[in-house]
Amino acid sequence: MDKIRLVYNSLFSHFGPQHWWPVTESGKLHPEYTGGPKNERQQLEVCFGAILTQNTNWKNVEKAIINLNKNKLIDIKKIKNIRNKKLAKIIKSSGYHNQKAKKLKNFCNFLLKNYNGNLSLFFKNNIKKLRKELLSVNGIGPETADSIILYAAKKPVFVIDAYTKRILNRVGYKEEGYDELQKLFMQSLPNSERLFNECHALLVELGKSICKKEPLCGKCPVNNDCKYFKNT
Ligand code: SF4
Repeated sequence: MDKIRLVYNSLFSHFGPQHWWPVTESGKLHPEYTGGPKNERQQLEVCFGAILTQNTNWKNVEKAIINLNKNKLIDIKKIKNIRNKKLAKIIKSSGYHNQKAKKLKNFCNFLLKNYNGNLSLFFKNNIKKLRKELLSVNGIGPETADSIILYAAKKPVFVIDAYTKRILNRVGYKEEGYDELQKLFMQSLPNSERLFNECHALLVELGKSICKKEPLCGKCPVNNDCKYFKNT
């Protein structure tokens, strides 16, 4: 069996389903792992989360999302209209808050200008067009664009992040660039949104809890298939 499939199977057996991406249920303030967005408001929250999680960890993003929820700001028009400084203060916990406030506004302005603020209409596009248009928004790079496509639009594209890259390189793959690594996953796994969602979430869990900067290889569910472990 292909090594990526073996890694996925081992991770799933070890950690179980991850229920990504965390979203806030109606009447609550905290995002929870309940299997991803089920309505347009939650899809928009995932888009905001994907922007806010750039260069920081989820705990910091969670606080920013809670603040956005408290201020009823999971709303395209309200983000457009709020002053930059006020928005930056609300999302401060996510770091780079002034830049991220601008990025949230850029994204909402893009949707208003091109899709009359209708996220569902935007998500009707195919993956190629979604990606191209997302990458045209100032502040959205490949990882953020793909996170929005996979976790908010629920279309099959694989997300590569720093954890994924570190694990794959340690396991023994030479690929370095974002596109090469993405291709590797998309050629090795069936073209399934659910599978890409679960596989990426499991890799993040492994990267956070075991395959850290100083890896805990003895506890790792994929050490039988890992080149780094075999060479140490
Ligand atoms: S065996 Fe070690 S280096 Fe390999 S994936 Fe697991 S934790 Fe990372």
